[in-house]
Amino acid sequence: MFLQKTLKKETIVYGIGLHTGVACSVKLKPAPPDFGIHLIKKINDQSYSVKVFAENVKATQNATTIGGPYFQISTVEHCLSSLAALRVDNLFIEIEGPELPVCDGSARDFLAAIDAVGLVEQDQPRKYIYIHEPLSVEDGDKSAKVLPYDGLRITASIEFTHPAIQKQTFDIDVNDVSFEREIAGARTFGFLKDVEKLRSQGLALGGSFDNAVVLDDVSVLNAEGLRYSEEFVRHKVLDALGDLVTLGAPLMGHVILNKAGHDLLNKLVRKILSLPENNINVELGEKVVLAPTPWIMG
Ligand SMILES: [Zn+2]
Repeated sequence: MFLQKTLKKETIVYGIGLHTGVACSVKLKPAPPDFGIHLIKKINDQSYSVKVFAENVKATQNATTIGGPYFQISTVEHCLSSLAALRVDNLFIEIEGPELPVCDGSARDFLAAIDAVGLVEQDQPRKYIYIHEPLSVEDGDKSAKVLPYDGLRITASIEFTHPAIQKQTFDIDVNDVSFEREIAGARTFGFLKDVEKLRSQGLALGGSFDNAVVLDDVSVLNAEGLRYSEEFVRHKVLDALGDLVTLGAPLMGHVILNKAGHDLLNKLVRKILSLPENNINVELGEKVVLAPTPWIMG
């Protein structure tokens, strides 16, 4: 039997927001057993909570947005990714500022902050989500499926006509060691022409070579080049791990993604949760309004 885990103590990650370009930070705080992972935001001295759960995913275009009646937060997947890999069950993620910090476009800073304080076991058994039969969702030539597996494994494939990306596949049995070595540092990527378009709409104002791999029509523009072979598809694995946190409990399964983005991941997660045997006892959290309590006043 494995016990649930949370952080040993609070930690904080600073940075700037990708879209606003303004300074922001996120506090990661221990949460009680059976609580799950919640986003917290203070509005007029009142703390509001939204559970990281599939039904609270509000948008999946380019990034995953989670929200409830009081606030929405976009691009949560890079912060959440480490939590899936480290099997963190309970956590408060308190957002200070309009966005989560983009950091270097990977999960490295979030992982380092968690590693610096460490995890602690709690006095309740972990509730895994087990896959008993193959499940899949498709959209044209894109697909996401999950097979029974004793552990957490992800196989992802992407295909771009861009000469620096082309067809890439990455397969990983995910644990804390493999995540740190193979996935955590893989940065998000974007195309210069898209960045220019976003900027003209007042978005991506914080975006730079410091927080993304940027490509023109033929090559990578970052002076330092890539961090890994297949950094692009590794980042897709990073994103997928973050999205899997919306299951509300750690997954035992082998996820196979072909050109799948946040939208298909969300559909797969909802399909897993719709099966009666996987109908784990998680409350949505959407309507939960947390008055200042001992564990969030500190
Ligand atoms: Zn990403």
